Formats: sequence, structure tokens, C-alpha cells
Amino acid sequence: MLSSNLFRTISCVVRTSTIFLRVLLYAAERLYYWGVLDEEQKMQKRKITRRSLLQTMAAGIGAAALSRPVGVSAGVFQSVRIEEPFHGAVLSRRHGEQDEGGLRIRVSGQAPLRDRVTVNGSPAQREGTKFTAEILLRQRETEITAASHGILGQHEHRVRVLWDKHSQPRYRFSIDDNSFFLRDIAKKKYASLFDCFYLKGLRELHSKYGARFVLNIYYITEDGFGLPQFSDRYKHEWQDNSDWLKLAFHAYANEPARPYQYAPASTLIADLNKVAEQIVRFAGERKYSPPTVIHWGMLQPTALKPLFENGVRVLSGYFRQLDGVWDVNYLLDDVRSEYLSRHDALMDFDSGIVFSKVDIVCNSTPIERIVPTLEPLTKDANQAEIMDIFTHEQYFWPFYANYLPDHFQRLETAIRWVKERGYKPVFFHEGFLGGPE
Ligand SMILES: [Zn+2]
Repeated sequence: MLSSNLFRTISCVVRTSTIFLRVLLYAAERLYYWGVLDEEQKMQKRKITRRSLLQTMAAGIGAAALSRPVGVSAGVFQSVRIEEPFHGAVLSRRHGEQDEGGLRIRVSGQAPLRDRVTVNGSPAQREGTKFTAEILLRQRETEITAASHGILGQHEHRVRVLWDKHSQPRYRFSIDDNSFFLRDIAKKKYASLFDCFYLKGLRELHSKYGARFVLNIYYITEDGFGLPQFSDRYKHEWQDNSDWLKLAFHAYANEPARPYQYAPASTLIADLNKVAEQIVRFAGERKYSPPTVIHWGMLQPTALKPLFENGVRVLSGYFRQLDGVWDVNYLLDDVRSEYLSRHDALMDFDSGIVFSKVDIVCNSTPIERIVPTLEPLTKDANQAEIMDIFTHEQYFWPFYANYLPDHFQRLETAIRWVKERGYKPVFFHEGFLGGPE
């Protein structure tokens, strides 16, 4: 008994001294550490300590908020929110039931658990924090208002959607980075535009399948050939073929890459007008299409309104991620870029421009991958209506480093396939996304 008490006393003394020693060592270490830090590092340390303190306090406030019996399931107040349809959604008969009266669609979202929710004035159904309602779109543009009424008052969320009333399956074919064919025609002084193999090949696809093409062109090539050097002697031929072949601005030149990503709107508009003026001069008014793809698909958001004022109604992009960053997306925000990555189109009401998702890039899709790329889209209501088909001019030319001998076959494979499935060839600048308005 005595020995056990003695043992306890000894171990208690040892434990206390161990703790004391550890504290001493820690303090000494901290003091030494602080001593070797320079002034800037010390400042940084103080800031971090202050920030962690504030974060701890905020977490405390958060925890206090959690304990309050308000709001939805998690306890944190979330205002009413429409999740479907998306703000700016382009809706067609594929998204609901359409008849003479309009397009009936489902609206759904989240609202605080105990709140009463109305959608455009009519009571919505509740299921937990979810709400759903049906509404009828009668106009081309409809504002949808979801309102929740509860202990924290009334809250609203509004979205606006477009009804593409006369929508029909359609495709548009856009070819980017054009300059070599114009230089070729100017150099060789052909009797006909279609003596140039490139235009000849496109005309064959038009004759065979009724395909239409918009060629997005540069003002100048890297070896100095510029549009002002292009003769207007082919004007009649351009005009005779303007129902299926259009010319549009793409950029001033191929280089530098991403020329308008950080450029002021005024630079972009000045370049657009330079090219537009030349197209009208050598090919006539009917040949001109406002641009629907800007080189690299990147520009400043402040350029959208000026583009609309210059006739732009649609802009096509890839809306894809590159190393986790949304790219070739006209610098749209992440939420809308993600939406566009899996939808045909989205309206930007601020500018009036509709964004279109490119569905296939023929120069980067081998022949055997063309149908497997397009086919799944036809089974998705959000991507089935509009085929935005795309390629680049340089891959047609044997002198180009990445020349594709089967480029025309790739185009033909895509065009034949969409034609067989009832897609109509359109130009995006006509009507609404090429369809009747
Ligand atoms: Zn380009």
C-alpha cells in the first residue's frame, strides 16, 4: 500500500515536471523562432493570427445562427431561388408542351421550408425545401417570379427566358480563320471564284446537300496580302451565290492569338468595320454577315453591347474548361459557361446577344468520330435542336503544317449526317439563331 502511494507520488511529480519542461521548451523555441524572423515576416504572422481570431469569431457567429430556428433544413437562411429554367434559357417545344396557347414549362427551385411560395402569382407545390409550378409562356420573352412569404418577410427571385416558338432542327456551318483562299484568288486571277479548289469544294457540298457556309475572314495575311488588294471583279459571282455563302469579320489577322481578349471594344469594332467595309466593296451588301465567331472566342464583356450595335446577334464559342478554367467562352462567368457547355444556346439580356455552343470542330475530329460526336446530342433536349458545326480554313491547304487531306470528307460526313436527320442549313444572323422569329 505504502509503496503504491509512493509510486503514485513519484509518477505525479514526473508527469508534472515533464509537462512543465515541454512548456518551457515550446516557449524557448517560439522565442528563438520569433527572434530569427525579420520585420516583414513578423508583420505577416501578426496578420495571420488576427485573421484566425476573426475566423474563429465568425465561426462562433455562424454556429449561433445555426442554432436559431429559421430558414431551410441546414438552418442557414437561403432565400427563394429558381433553379429551372436558367436565367437566359432558350426554350423550345423540347422543353415542355407546346400548342396554340403557348409553351407549358415546369419551374422548380428551393425556398425556406415553412414559406409559402408563388410562381408568377400562383401557389407552387412544396416538397421539403423544393418548390415546383407550371407556367405557360405566351410571349417570346417571359419573366418568371418566384416569391416566398414567411417569417422573414417576402423574398423574390426573377429569371427571364426566351421561347423559341417556331424552333426547328437546324444547323449552321461556320469556317474560321479565312484568308488563304482570297489571297489565292487574287494571286491567280482566276476567271471564276470557283476555280479556287476551296470554294469549289464548298460549292459541291452546297449542290449535293444544300449546305450553307459562313466564312469568317481576316483583313490581312502574315505575308502582307490585305483585303483592299482583292478585286471587285467577282462581285456578280459573289452575289449569285450569296444565298448559301456569306463572308463575315473574324479578326484583323491570325496573329497574335487571342487578339481581343484584353483589347478595348473600340479596337475590335474598328477592325470589324474595316473588314465589313471591304466585304461590301468587293462582294456587295448581300454577301455580308455580321460576325458570329470572333477569333479565339474571347473578348471583354464591355465589347458585347458595341457588337450588338454593329449587328451581332449570336456568338459561338467552345465553352470548355482548360486546366480548370473556362475558355473560348467570351469571358462569360463560370456559371453561364458551365450551363452553355451542355446547352445549345443562352441569351445575355444585358447585351441582347445569344451565345451558341459549338458542337463539333471538324478539323479536330477524325472522320470515324464525327457521327459519334453528333449523335448523342440528338438525344438531349438541351442540345438536340441546333447543330453548331465548325472548322478552320488553314487545314484545307497543303502548304499548311497541319494540312488534313481528308478535310472535305470530314465536312461531308457531318453535313450528310445532319441533313439525313432533318436539320436545315441556316445562317445564325437571320431570324432567331437561323430559325423563323
Ligand atoms: Zn479564329
